[in-house]
Amino acid sequence: MFERPRGTNDWTPEDMVKRRYVESAFVGVAESFGFREIQTPLFESLELFAAKSGPGVVEELYAFKDKGNRDVALRPEFTASIVRFYVNELRSLPKPIKVYCYGPAFRYEEPQKGRYREFEQLDAEVIGGATLASDAEVIALAIGTMRAIGLKQVRARIGHIGMLRAFLPFGPADQAKVLHALDKKNVPMLEDELRRLTHEELTDPLKRIIGLHGDAAILDEAQKLLGGKGGEAFGYLRQLREQLAHYGISPSEYEFDMGVVRGLDYYTGMVFELDSPNLGAEKQVGGGGAYTLAEVFGGEPVAQTGFALGVDRLVMAAEAEGVFGPAPALDAYVVPIGEAVRGKAVEILTTIRAAGLRADIDLVGRGPSKNLDYANTSRARYAVLVGEKELKKDAVGLRDLKAGTQREVPVRSLVEALTKA
Ligand code: AMP
Repeated sequence: MFERPRGTNDWTPEDMVKRRYVESAFVGVAESFGFREIQTPLFESLELFAAKSGPGVVEELYAFKDKGNRDVALRPEFTASIVRFYVNELRSLPKPIKVYCYGPAFRYEEPQKGRYREFEQLDAEVIGGATLASDAEVIALAIGTMRAIGLKQVRARIGHIGMLRAFLPFGPADQAKVLHALDKKNVPMLEDELRRLTHEELTDPLKRIIGLHGDAAILDEAQKLLGGKGGEAFGYLRQLREQLAHYGISPSEYEFDMGVVRGLDYYTGMVFELDSPNLGAEKQVGGGGAYTLAEVFGGEPVAQTGFALGVDRLVMAAEAEGVFGPAPALDAYVVPIGEAVRGKAVEILTTIRAAGLRADIDLVGRGPSKNLDYANTSRARYAVLVGEKELKKDAVGLRDLKAGTQREVPVRSLVEALTKA
């Protein structure tokens, strides 16, 4: 007996239907928004991830030496790879560059429900767009994906890092430490940092600001708490609200949340997260924002906005909201009544498959009644009974496995009968 590695999953056929459904909802919306699919390697040089997120990130990586003694790591997400790809090869393309990709990512984390060591992300990025329009486009894509999946309870929470940066009277390195504490909502850590920076007086307003969330009215409140600082950020969020309205996104689909911080240094402006209230501790299904990273990888500075959604959590959210119905796994299960008609049954099966329907046939020589049991437990929509008597009339028996009824159908109109259902 071998155990699965900790934090990994095996997915059943039923699981895979749900995972593919979520992926294709994302792909459908992304394509309709004019995003194009790319793919990057599953592993990269360790340095790439360290350059993006600092050496601390190495703790979370699946990092190892390959046979050439190179330090490599499995990707923990897509952003670093996409920016590397952009700086090395894509930057000569006309801007903005709108790309998406999806696939597995790996983080050495303490596994729990909705938090794995191997998980899957959906990622979209706009590189080199005018910031407000790109931000709106990216949020609309994220919310559009939720809608396409059929999720009604997922809400976006939108904030702005510039607002906090304008308020913190320290250099970027110290700002990063305070923002990290705010991101983790770790009050003792925040208090320690502000004490160290001899700005304890900021503890209270910061705690109050990051607690503010709701409709546009909280922007006024936050602005007051910041004593007039960060004005640009507030103006920006108000404009973003107008843009989102033009996309048909209703204020009930998102709120402003001054507590969305996203601790990584390269976020510059708008930041957002998406939560499903049904998922308990790991309720965040995705997040993103505006950032600049290209210069870290040797490129010219360029405005980027992107997000990553977690497939595992989106599937859990969709399950909790009852999105998945009991869809049939097969359109037709073909039952030869006796070995003599097996050849003809395979011909009928092949015709059904050629029409793009999902069809299967007995492979182990079961009798008709055992075959019908199998068809039912395999969640087939119809059983096609191929018997000598009916074949003489160029017909087959078509049993509706949901209704439990049966009728005779000419072979030539079988595909039509199966698709009309
Ligand atoms: P992040 O890059 O940390 O903002 O993650 C983006 C999304 O990926 C999260 O909102 C989750 O849905 C998903 N995600 C991140 N880490 C994990 C994990 N360890 N297991 C499952 N999903 C994850």
